[in-house]
Amino acid sequence: DRLQLDGKVAYITGGGQGIGRAFCHALGEAGAKVAVVDLIPAKADAVAHELSLKGIKSMAVVADVSKPEDIQKMLDKVVAKWGTVHIACNNAGINMNSPSEETSLEEWDKTFSVNLRGLFLCCQAAGRIMLNQGYGKIINTASMASLIVPHPQKQLAYNTSKAGVVKLTQTLGTEWINRGVRVNCISPGIVDTPLIHSEELKPLVQRWLTDIPAGRLAQVTDLQAAVVYLASEASDYMTGHNLVIEGGQSLW
Ligand code: NAD
Repeated sequence: DRLQLDGKVAYITGGGQGIGRAFCHALGEAGAKVAVVDLIPAKADAVAHELSLKGIKSMAVVADVSKPEDIQKMLDKVVAKWGTVHIACNNAGINMNSPSEETSLEEWDKTFSVNLRGLFLCCQAAGRIMLNQGYGKIINTASMASLIVPHPQKQLAYNTSKAGVVKLTQTLGTEWINRGVRVNCISPGIVDTPLIHSEELKPLVQRWLTDIPAGRLAQVTDLQAAVVYLASEASDYMTGHNLVIEGGQSLW
């Protein structure tokens, strides 16, 4: 079956919670060995433990993708344990809010250092290993905010960084496909994760619900088959693609 991931090695950044955690479970259940990468050690450990209870081979790796040196160390650990990497899920992302005229350089730089610079460095470091072996699947987490400006606004740095993720994915996806490396991204709509239950975002959720033709927020389970598909041979003819999963919100 072309959706099987037996024998494959995957890592997921931001794997300790939310969408990344759901990706860890989905890839592990499809047969992959899973490195759970997170900034917060307890979160990475907890998810790696959950996976091991299901009989999935797992490891926890602590890394902050905004620190270039952490990214290479993370990959070195995965390669030391399992020999290589076949599936790279670059999912860690942060979201801050401010009116654009007040967005500080600090907010801008912090957002970009995780959402775009960190993602680029992960793609490059994992990509080198994958190009070397002539095989790899990179799946980046972008956002519906790469396409539309979700109402209400105040997410200039976030939206712009996510548009960058899509263009980076298109560029790498076309550059590397004839060397066996596919690069795609997933753009979720508004997903019911801890990120959107922050004090800042809570009041917006009610308004967002009226913007979603599907009439509900996405659950992480709505995204799990997509990551398995993009990680598997079944999607070998797909590259540079932005797979949008948003209950129709970007069309309204
Ligand atoms: P979340 O905040 O619930 O979880 C993010 C995880 O990433 C946390 O475990 C956190 O510790 C980790 N993390 C944060 N910064 C990191 C760093 N510098 N290095 C390593 N790990 C780090 O977020 P989520 O909702 O699961 O979002 C995951 C991804 O999906 C993000 O890229 C986000 O922008 C994107 N996304 C989320 C939604 C949504 O509605 N929740 C919608 C579209 C896109």
